[in-house]
Amino acid sequence: MIERRMMLAIWAFGAVAVTSLLFSAPWVASGAAGLAAALFAWGAAAADPAVVSIATEPEPTAPDVTADLIDAIDDPLLIVERQRISHANAAAVRLFGADKLDGDFRLALRHPLAAELLTSDEPSTVSTPIELVGIGQKDRRWAMTVHLLGDGVRLVRLRDRTESWVAERMRVDFVANASHELRTPLATLLGFIETLADSSAGGDEATRQRFLSIMMREARRMQQLVDDLMSLSRVEADRFSTPQTPVDLTAVVEEAVAVIRSGLGEGADRISLDLDLSCPKVRADRVQITQLVHNLVGNAIKYGRPDTPIQVLVRPVGGKVRLQVVDQGDGIAPEHLPRLTERFYRVDAGRSRAVGGTGLGLAIVKHIAERHRANLNIASVVGRGTTVSITFPGIEPEALSS
Ligand code: ADP
Repeated sequence: MIERRMMLAIWAFGAVAVTSLLFSAPWVASGAAGLAAALFAWGAAAADPAVVSIATEPEPTAPDVTADLIDAIDDPLLIVERQRISHANAAAVRLFGADKLDGDFRLALRHPLAAELLTSDEPSTVSTPIELVGIGQKDRRWAMTVHLLGDGVRLVRLRDRTESWVAERMRVDFVANASHELRTPLATLLGFIETLADSSAGGDEATRQRFLSIMMREARRMQQLVDDLMSLSRVEADRFSTPQTPVDLTAVVEEAVAVIRSGLGEGADRISLDLDLSCPKVRADRVQITQLVHNLVGNAIKYGRPDTPIQVLVRPVGGKVRLQVVDQGDGIAPEHLPRLTERFYRVDAGRSRAVGGTGLGLAIVKHIAERHRANLNIASVVGRGTTVSITFPGIEPEALSS
């Protein structure tokens, strides 16, 4: 405001003094007139209502929103002042319980690294995250960071890393399992190649043929595994794009079963088809549905008792379409059922390998079902057989016509 008054005064002095000189007024008189004008402008600016009102209006004071802000954050947050917790947000109270937050931070955070961070004189404003395990629940994992707010006040922030840790573990396990599955047939192949390369060994034709057939079987196993791994990765890559094409499920299943039957030769009659042609259409990916049928009927053949019937049914169920594959095999004990769709999970690894299983068939089925927003259910009775049901949402006839 002072600057504005000063500017006005200078401007008034200049304007009046110069005008007086232009009208040939004496130098002293012009200066006096300019000075008078400057004083007048100085006073007038002070009386300017706009300037006065801004100057005298009280500064607006911001409401103290810090506590509300901290409470609104989902991550547990603590403010620690000289080793005592001065504030804990709602998420922290839920995690630790109010009694652990009333006093020294070590009641809540018993980790030695956490104690080190919260008591050190480190000048850094944000610490690198440290991992804390077991707060709240035994298997939960948290990343804790400490922000130095100044004057011995620290903000402790915990972020739940359990999900990303589990995902990372699964990825590491998956790579280890896949490598292991490939290494076994590869080692067999290399062994036989070495033997055959040695002209003094494996000389007789019968032995050579036996070796070659084993090599062929192991190479096929590797090929099947690589095919399944690629299928799984393709299905996973597509998981966020729901299929849009209206498909007649009965027709796709009929086609897939015809291909399976033609590959079975004499045993083809084991597989019976029961298709209800009144089923509504479903939004589906034909290639993936075909693969799903191959995997389920393949399992029914692999784990069913020889010559027992296998039924494939497609039926409408209250606006939905249910595909079922029913076998009369040895069945699966209840404790295995929840884990069957895990990658590489097998009830009997030896039996699975002997019949060419990779342990990925049902994992692929699960991903295909999820992508189609379909519900997968596996029911089994030991000694009686297994029924796998997948229920797809049907398309309403009005949606098709519009
Ligand atoms: P695999 O390639 O080993 O068959 P899957 O993921 O298809 O892998 O199946 C996982 C395991 O579930 C199999 O190893 C087998 O133990 C069991 N299983 C799957 N389908 C059946 C079935 N119809 N009857 C009995 N056991 C089954």
